[in-house]
Amino acid sequence: MNAEAILERIERAREKSGRSDKIYFAAVSKTRTVDEMKAAEKFTFIDFFGENRVQEAESKRKSYGQSRIPWRLIGHLQANKARKALEVFDTIDSIDTPALAERLGRIANELGRVIPVLIEVNTSGEESKSGVDPENFMPLLDAVISQQNLRLDGFMTVGPITDDEAEIRRAFASLRRLSEDARKKSGLPLPIVSMGMSGDFESAILEGSTLVRIGTLLFGPRDYTQKN
Ligand SMILES: *Cc1c(COP(=O)(O)O)cnc(C)c1O
Repeated sequence: MNAEAILERIERAREKSGRSDKIYFAAVSKTRTVDEMKAAEKFTFIDFFGENRVQEAESKRKSYGQSRIPWRLIGHLQANKARKALEVFDTIDSIDTPALAERLGRIANELGRVIPVLIEVNTSGEESKSGVDPENFMPLLDAVISQQNLRLDGFMTVGPITDDEAEIRRAFASLRRLSEDARKKSGLPLPIVSMGMSGDFESAILEGSTLVRIGTLLFGPRDYTQKN
């Protein structure tokens, strides 16, 4: 585990950006075993686990037992898995349609819970990416805010697949701008701007990320053939 080196790089990017606010750290634990996650839990800088599949997270959470670390769903959520997702996860970070917001809100109401959520935005225009398109962002914002049993905490995006630093920065800057617009429009604090992964977290911090999601750099390369 390369914790020291990652923290140093986060700190350097923060200094370069002139920021002094906290940058939260999600350890992206998809494909990792419960034992690997428990070893990671000892690192106090880890604020969250990030998982991208409901089923995988469900089986791991069952055997995990008590955890000080909340689990975030950072992958696309299919409507038919909404109820299961609410049973397994503490937060849902990938709301991308009004219909999904309504369904999550209704189930949360049945469960008597208020669920912290993020809206996921497709800032790169890549077709393979999930997330709402920027032109549909404001209607989705209204739809999420109108759900009494959802608490909107902010926004998430996945950066473009490219080595072009300027293009990556542009995508992250666009999420920061949308989040500023949303704060003004809603009057809500909306503190979370979740962007930046192993390959691009420094660019994300320079553009205002308040939550980085790191998998590979922390745990090593993923082996998708091994399990799940
Ligand atoms: C897998 C994943 C990450 C982490 O990616 P790494 O490159 O391993 O750091 C972050 N965010 C999302 C949405 C992911 O699916």
